[in-house]
Amino acid sequence: MTAQKRILTAALAGLVTFALCTTLCLAREKEVELKRDYNVKPVPFSRVNVSDDFWTPRLEINSKVTIPYAFGKCEETGRIRNFEKSAGLMEGKHEGIYFNDSDVYKIMEGAAYSLQAQPDTMMRLYLDKVIKIMAAAQWEDGYLFTFYSIPERQPEKLWTNIQRVHEQYCVGHMYEGAVAHYQVTGDKLFLDIATKNADLMCKVFNPNNRTDPPGHQEIEIGLCKLYRATGDEKYLDQAKFFLDQRGRLGNRGPKGDKGLYGTYSQDHKPVTEQTKAVGHSVRAAYLYTGMADVAALTGNMDYIKAIDTIWKDVLDTKLYLTGGIGAAGGHEGFGGAYELPNMTAYCETCASIANIFWNHRMFLMHDDAKYMDVLERILYNAALAGISMNGDRFFYPNPLQSTGQHARSPWFGCACCPSNVARFVPSVPGYAYAHKDNNVYVNLFISSQTTIETSSNKVTLTQQTKYPWEGTGNIKVEPEKSDKFAIYIRIPGWARNEAVPSDLYRFQKTIDEQAALKVNGRRASLDLQRGYARIERKWDKGDTIELSLPMLVRRVIANENIKADLGRVALQRGPIVFCLEWPDNDGEVLNLMIPDDAKLKAEFRPDLLNGVEVITGNARLTKRAADGDIVPAGQKAFTAIPYYAWAHRGRGQMVVWAARKPEASRPAPADTLTYISKTTASFVHASLDAIKDQSIPASSSDSSSLQLDFWPHKGTTEWLRFEWDTEHKISSVKVYWFDDTGRGGCRVPKSWRVLYRDAKGQFKPVNSSGPYGTEKDKFNEVEFKLVKTDAVKIEIVLQDKWASGVQEVVIE
Ligand SMILES: [Zn+2]
Repeated sequence: MTAQKRILTAALAGLVTFALCTTLCLAREKEVELKRDYNVKPVPFSRVNVSDDFWTPRLEINSKVTIPYAFGKCEETGRIRNFEKSAGLMEGKHEGIYFNDSDVYKIMEGAAYSLQAQPDTMMRLYLDKVIKIMAAAQWEDGYLFTFYSIPERQPEKLWTNIQRVHEQYCVGHMYEGAVAHYQVTGDKLFLDIATKNADLMCKVFNPNNRTDPPGHQEIEIGLCKLYRATGDEKYLDQAKFFLDQRGRLGNRGPKGDKGLYGTYSQDHKPVTEQTKAVGHSVRAAYLYTGMADVAALTGNMDYIKAIDTIWKDVLDTKLYLTGGIGAAGGHEGFGGAYELPNMTAYCETCASIANIFWNHRMFLMHDDAKYMDVLERILYNAALAGISMNGDRFFYPNPLQSTGQHARSPWFGCACCPSNVARFVPSVPGYAYAHKDNNVYVNLFISSQTTIETSSNKVTLTQQTKYPWEGTGNIKVEPEKSDKFAIYIRIPGWARNEAVPSDLYRFQKTIDEQAALKVNGRRASLDLQRGYARIERKWDKGDTIELSLPMLVRRVIANENIKADLGRVALQRGPIVFCLEWPDNDGEVLNLMIPDDAKLKAEFRPDLLNGVEVITGNARLTKRAADGDIVPAGQKAFTAIPYYAWAHRGRGQMVVWAARKPEASRPAPADTLTYISKTTASFVHASLDAIKDQSIPASSSDSSSLQLDFWPHKGTTEWLRFEWDTEHKISSVKVYWFDDTGRGGCRVPKSWRVLYRDAKGQFKPVNSSGPYGTEKDKFNEVEFKLVKTDAVKIEIVLQDKWASGVQEVVIE
């Protein structure tokens, strides 16, 4: 049954009995007086009416497709049943991963947001039904977590493994969902569940009892939202308490003797002493967001100092051009400085969303457009790539290069990313405007209307633009009363010759074209301040601002410390980062090279991918010669599409950082003996093809171009076999080992040997004189007495307790 049908059935069957609100009773947000908050106030998405060619279809698809679809998946996968069982409405065990409750809360948050924009009685009824089930599932003391509630309640297990089980991560999302629901509907039922749970949290975790921090951050953000919604300071204190326990041993409960969780959970030192972005990137960005919130609400400067330093670390060394963060899949997190591989980039969709939250808070705190520049980069690239244009296929990691191994999924066992998208998309209009005192800010260019209540006026702004495809737009200004105030319009870094606010990426050429402004048809000076054009004057009803940004195709070059991008170039136009994908380029893009002198042209293609701007030009083709060299192979017209739109037409090659020099291209391998063999292995993790792709790694630990490894096999004997239709004369085998010491579980092997198939079909060891080397960062060659054979086998004995892997094999 589809989610829509279930929603309908649930409503019609009268599973819930309450008075129907046929129209939504939208609550005016009850303003709670807070002692302090951010310097700049955001204009909530609920006060921004969007009618935009680019964003309106996305908002509609999110509410009409993604949210019902995600609820349907929650029904199908037992996420809703877990609550029903916990409420005693049915029998049975817990289904799915222990932290699955969080997905339901996140989609509820998204549903509440989308109700605000578009009333939907069935959705409202469905939410009410789920909330009633949750109320019945909640324990008398406020505890609510289905994993420890079924098949019967297990009070002895509560809080025994908060590092892994994520009770607090789940309820953090509950608090966010509950506040959203309350603000939109005015109904307190969900909020009451949340505050009852938060009250329990305050009782269990405090200086006199448990002092261990949550294993996965998120509750800190939720508690700050509860504080803003209720005005009850104990929730703010609790958020601060959780932040301050990180990096301290304290009283860590039943398993406390295990000590700190380490960098993975940003628990290696107190948060105010942290200077680098480390560990799991979603945890990290939620932590930094929570620190910003608590700093804004308490005035604590130590948190601000720490997150300023960490933000600079990310911008200087750890941000992908798409705005994604998290280089390594192993720990789903940050790599070292400049470690930004493209094909194996993690860039989890959740991390992009969390990074948007964080950068928005940094803007609200510091009143500087550079944070919105980063936010815009994430929004239009890494974040948007996480969801398909039809709204029901998702990416978890968002790589910047593919050989065809990547495709969007309908769902995941761990569904954090789809549910995060569902709640994030409806909130996008909330990043467009802000105000401080009696001045207003225009941060994003989206056709929309909003009325901003400043300290002394009400200002209606009506924005019209074809952004991100065109750089022109106009804004009608209608103050309730004519008055002098300033309008700050963000002039994006890319329109000021600045690729990012650091030296991590730069435009290859600076351009002379500049942003231009007109007020009531007359040219106005840009008067740039912290990335904003500041227009201060007496504004009257009907005044208009015209903005024009230079929408040229720009070549981006990475900092030379980023090894993965050496000899490469990326294309950007406006805020959009482009990629080359196989369907537009006759099936292959890794064999293309865009020379510096190639003329590049942009044009809008309404027929392609729901309408996108494309970049076209002439590339050079490369191919691999038999000796392994990359040589020219003619010219070819190419087409690049926006990165967010890739992976909608099947699997195949894609590249963001295209080759600019021949050696950076990755043409198909030449027909060497190794390449033409039928290759098999005792076990394959990662890629079998990688061992004969003729792409020589920079080192044994280089995972940028994939490898074959035997993980999680440890201490076993494994083999690789190469077979041919006819016999060949062979006298040498070279192996380049994979070894990710310090990062993963692969080491060079204990030993290895080469065998060949004799005339009787038996594998026999070759007659070699030299040793079988296991050195890192080079080929280990074994020469032997020439054999005529149709098959070679490499036998590999792994070290005890370690896996092993192979980067490349050459048989000659
Ligand atoms: Zn995720």
